[in-house]
Amino acid sequence: MKPFAYVRAGSVEEAVDAHAAHPGARYLGGGTNLMDLMKLDVERPGTLIDVSRLPLDDVRELPDGGLWAGATVRNSDLAAHPAVRDRYPALSQALLSGASGQLRNVATTGGNLLQRTRCPYFQDVTKPCNKREPGSGCGALEGVHRDHAVLGYSERCIATHPSDMAVALAALDAEVELYGADGKRKVPVAEFHRLPGEHPERDTEIRPGELITGVVLPAATAGLPSAYRKARDRASYAFALASVAAVLEVADGVVHRAGIAFGGVAHRPWRARRAEEALLGAAPTADAFEHAVDLELAAARPLGDNAYKVPLTRGVTLDVLTRLAPRTPAPV
Ligand SMILES: Cc1cc2nc3c(=O)[nH]c(=O)nc-3n(C[C@H](O)[C@H](O)[C@H](O)COP(=O)(O)OP(=O)(O)OC[C@H]3O[C@@H](n4cnc5c(N)ncnc54)[C@H](O)[C@@H]3O)c2cc1C
Ligand code: SF4
Repeated sequence: MKPFAYVRAGSVEEAVDAHAAHPGARYLGGGTNLMDLMKLDVERPGTLIDVSRLPLDDVRELPDGGLWAGATVRNSDLAAHPAVRDRYPALSQALLSGASGQLRNVATTGGNLLQRTRCPYFQDVTKPCNKREPGSGCGALEGVHRDHAVLGYSERCIATHPSDMAVALAALDAEVELYGADGKRKVPVAEFHRLPGEHPERDTEIRPGELITGVVLPAATAGLPSAYRKARDRASYAFALASVAAVLEVADGVVHRAGIAFGGVAHRPWRARRAEEALLGAAPTADAFEHAVDLELAAARPLGDNAYKVPLTRGVTLDVLTRLAPRTPAPV
């Protein structure tokens, strides 16, 4: 591993100033992704700015009925928080489906959002990878791509985004709160991660030196039925092959709000807008769910070895929506 300097920031402003003063620096959250990539020589920062002890480690009620979770809240604490479990169950379930108990005790909200792809070519510096080294090619396109994207990818990169938490946050209409040289701003989680296009080296819309300070869970989805389900190779300690987070509000027998996001199938949490639109105003029936999901997945372009992800995503989505739909009372 390349030698690096270590700075511990005492405040948000100090962290951002330290980043500006050390070109090529990286913020350090729990370190569970960054340190692994440094050991593999994929990441080679000259300075680590430790933000894990900033006073961003709590969850606060917002006056409008939403919730704010700080960037340094540990994944296990966020999953276990009573307000998250009660009002945003999809988020709690998504967090608990990720990694292992030990990792969740260390991993932070900010670091989880910015974790890098698990594409094996990205992690192996001897292999071509446009994301790691722009212009070098994509080893996965003609190589091993069983775990790769079926939606929204480009010829430059077919990697998937690995975070479970981000998929739930996208479906719940959460926002990422950022602080940088231009001050504070918020970006919807569903728009925070990028599709690869011509520049797969850019994972997100974050600006150089910006610090994630927290995420905002809106009042609009608080208390609505929501769920997260993940299909994977093993029952635990495995990334999603395909996953689905959904929020479904049904009133007067029709769908009033649907938020659906897929994980494990695209370069970012894939907000299933076509499916959501198709469901608005429809009765929550099996036919309506199938029609909506098929509309969304018509855009899928599976490669040789990952075609299984299309029916898998379909099945998981139908399962989640069916569970969230109110049951018709049995006739008396
Ligand atoms: C074996 C294993 C299995 C895993 N399985 C899963 C899984 O199933 N699902 C899943 O979702 N994840 C999984 N993970 C990934 C794990 O969730 C991430 O490593 C973790 O969430 C990253 O959080 P961290 O705080 O440790 O980030 P770090 O490693 O500290 O940082 C990650 C990135 O975020 C940046 N960063 C950190 N905090 C901030 C901030 N506040 N503002 C701006 N930038 C910041 C860092 O500079 C770095 O680039 C797994 C990891 C391992 C090692
Ligand atoms: S899929 Fe993306 S991350 Fe993987 S090798 Fe290709 S360019 Fe690199």
